[in-house]
Amino acid sequence: MAALTITQASCADDYDPNSMPVAKARDFIHQFLQPVRGTLRVPVRSALGRVLAEDVLSPVNVPAHRNSAMDGWAMKGSDVVGDAPATLTEVGASFAGRPFAGTVAKGQCVRIMTGGVVPEGTDTVVMQERAQASGKSVTFAPGAKTGQNVREAGEDLKAGSVALKRGRIVRPAELGLIASLGVGEVAVYRPLRVAFFSTGDELKSIGTTLGEGEIYDSNRYTLFGMLTRLGCEVLDMGVVRDEPQLIERAFQEAAANADVVITSGGVSVGEADFVKGMLGKLGEVVFWKIAMKPGRPLAYGKIGAAHFFGLPGNPVSVMVTFYQFVRDALLRLSGRDPVPALPTFKVPCTSTLKKAPGRTEFQRGILARGADGGFTVRPTGEQGSGILKSMSDANCFIILGEATGNVEPGTTVQVQLLEGVV
Ligand code: AMP
Ligand code: MG
Repeated sequence: MAALTITQASCADDYDPNSMPVAKARDFIHQFLQPVRGTLRVPVRSALGRVLAEDVLSPVNVPAHRNSAMDGWAMKGSDVVGDAPATLTEVGASFAGRPFAGTVAKGQCVRIMTGGVVPEGTDTVVMQERAQASGKSVTFAPGAKTGQNVREAGEDLKAGSVALKRGRIVRPAELGLIASLGVGEVAVYRPLRVAFFSTGDELKSIGTTLGEGEIYDSNRYTLFGMLTRLGCEVLDMGVVRDEPQLIERAFQEAAANADVVITSGGVSVGEADFVKGMLGKLGEVVFWKIAMKPGRPLAYGKIGAAHFFGLPGNPVSVMVTFYQFVRDALLRLSGRDPVPALPTFKVPCTSTLKKAPGRTEFQRGILARGADGGFTVRPTGEQGSGILKSMSDANCFIILGEATGNVEPGTTVQVQLLEGVV
């Protein structure tokens, strides 16, 4: 953790906790994030989706040998450069995995296939489309350049150099790259442990019958999904009733067993007061009203060694605040470096959007390809923070900045992709 404590930082800073800009809240949280300490060595395949905890060094040159990029013939460049066709004598072959054993002299060439070792005495490959063979006599079209179609040993990676940096996530390409080096094990960060619970007397878990005024707890399911997709180990602590003692115990248990504690509900005005007092006793927590919609109330802090995120209760607000604040923080804590931003770009919006200046809005949008092949975006419809279907229908957020007012059709807006990300 940074030397600065959370309360020192929040006091020293000039921010207004009752109207906290999105970017400022993100930056504030960022200063307290350090990757988890634990690492483990795993066989290559088990590293899929994990974060590298050490640089992967190449023990070998890649490619290991000087080899051909084409099917053709290898020869001395000096034999084939020039304006006239050149005829050479084929003295053998070099196929991938079966090199030519001898040395090639002036006036000679060797049949070679892609990946075949370029024989001693040669430095150039002419592709077969530019050659005419008649028995062992091969005539090459003019226009060759010395060194062409030859991949040098170590051209991709020199032995001892960094093939993959610490902080990189291992995807299929990295699995293949690691295997191509002959490396069988890599060091990865241990997965981040995240405990979460919901608060609210109105919440019931699925499998029980609803009484009057009660609703099913959906936030624990979206959280489970979002956390699992980020590679976290989850600890679902269920619904905790709005009772100070129960909530206090839940916080203590969560903080003792996880790197990160996430709650939903209970940080909005009114409810926040007793939670505020309690968290002041258990750790250091700042409570903000973010200048955004949805997702105004947000709490961040530390309870013991655990990071704490207090998300709003409304189901859409949970998802929006998760993607705008928690995702990046969890990736950083998981060891990702750099943390990849959610892809954001600009497209025309085809509808009118209602928007009040003074806060950042994250409307749920549908990005689609128009008749001309370009993308446009439209809102999903009702934008209430309780309407989870708006998230389900959406494939992007339409991000409308603080200064923006109503949006007319045809205006260019910023969208942030959810598809393939969440
Ligand atoms: P709160 O922040 O606790 O005042 O909750 C705001 C709104 O979100 C209320 O309508 C709650 O019923 C609803 N809510 C809170 N937690 C959940 C949950 N886990 N699942 C579904 N809705 C919730
Ligand atoms: Mg509540």
